Amino acid sequence: MAKERPGQIAPATRVIIGGRRPEWTGTADQPGAVVSPPVWRASTHLYADTAALKSGPAKNEDGRFYYGRRGAPTQWALAEALTELEPGAAEQGGGTMLYPSGVAAIAAALLAVLRPGDVLLMTDNAYEPSRVLARAWLAEFGIETRWFDPADPAAFATAICPHTKAVLLESPGSLTMEVQDVPTLAAIAHNHGLCVILDNTWASPLGFAALAHGADISVMSLTKHVGGHSDLMMGSATAGPAWYPKLRRGAQLLGQVVSPDDASLALRGLRSMAVRLARETESALRIAEWFAGRPEVARVLCPMLPGSPGHDLWRRDFTGGCGLFSVVLNGRDAAARNALIDALALFGIGYSWGGFESLVTPLDPAGSRSATSWPLPQMDAADRFGIRLSIGLEDPADLIADLARGLAAWSAAGNDA
Ligand SMILES: *Cc1c(COP(=O)(O)O)cnc(C)c1O
Repeated sequence: MAKERPGQIAPATRVIIGGRRPEWTGTADQPGAVVSPPVWRASTHLYADTAALKSGPAKNEDGRFYYGRRGAPTQWALAEALTELEPGAAEQGGGTMLYPSGVAAIAAALLAVLRPGDVLLMTDNAYEPSRVLARAWLAEFGIETRWFDPADPAAFATAICPHTKAVLLESPGSLTMEVQDVPTLAAIAHNHGLCVILDNTWASPLGFAALAHGADISVMSLTKHVGGHSDLMMGSATAGPAWYPKLRRGAQLLGQVVSPDDASLALRGLRSMAVRLARETESALRIAEWFAGRPEVARVLCPMLPGSPGHDLWRRDFTGGCGLFSVVLNGRDAAARNALIDALALFGIGYSWGGFESLVTPLDPAGSRSATSWPLPQMDAADRFGIRLSIGLEDPADLIADLARGLAAWSAAGNDA
């Protein structure tokens, strides 16, 4: 990796070469000798003498040995690889901080921006723990949160008040998958001096260039696509030079650090992320198309599917998708929906997503709404229950056969719409 890189490098190539600095993957006399950085397990970092000890802490810069809490090459390589994936961060002196979970990354971004007396605007389709964090904890610090309709930029503009300091976007949103008009919302936000935080877990930088579309801080749960194997928890926040130093300061003050073992697993996952996402997207699209033709299904909430809500914005702004989408069933109750889920043999039932294996969870967003209601006004009031699917790397024909068995169980569960 010591050779100079060609100027234009595509994202699928950047996930392969990012963070592989020769000094992190070899020895002083054989730099770059191995492909991946070893797991640098270290709490203590040693100094040559007292003079070096004295001058060491004064240089609080990325990529410098100091003490384990500021990481070592395994974590630095992962952070650098993620920064290189985010257009607008790498070129301008921004960077990426790593956190022990996606929720920790969201909390860190909010705490870097908000102070007592501030108002936070949050999209109404935000990940449930983001909502709970705001209601149950930010409120105790005197930070008020107001929710707005993800599909209504005008409502967002009206919701801004003199104390509004930040907005948390999520696109597509959790469960209901609304795509937000991020450039428009960011332009409105910046006119009022707000910091735009985007939860970009669904698309990752491969599918949506968050900073280039107006976000100031892009947050990801690395637990999902980057890890990719359902065996680690981690989060990241990437920002340009305006916010990165503040994120870094906050992480150091709050003692946020990730283990080198997990960073090594995340780096391994990252290297195959582009091919996994491409395959998941292809399979998810095929399965979403199949659902769209089924009489048991009222709505397919999959932005990648032509005709699905948010598809036009997705086509305009995104460069990729993933395997996560939702399906709303045609009437009936939660018990019938549960019969569908319990009949599936190839889908694990559990939280999280973005792993190599397919997962399913019940979908009933009615209780997680503040500014909007579920079912949405344009929907039939009886169409409330559904499923959320995370499509993995299996053969999609097998998954479709399994889902057909599930729909048969739903039909057999009685109770007419
Ligand atoms: C899972 C998830 C998170 C939280 O990530 P964890 O790593 O589980 O803490 C945040 N945002 C979205 C959209 C998620 O799906």
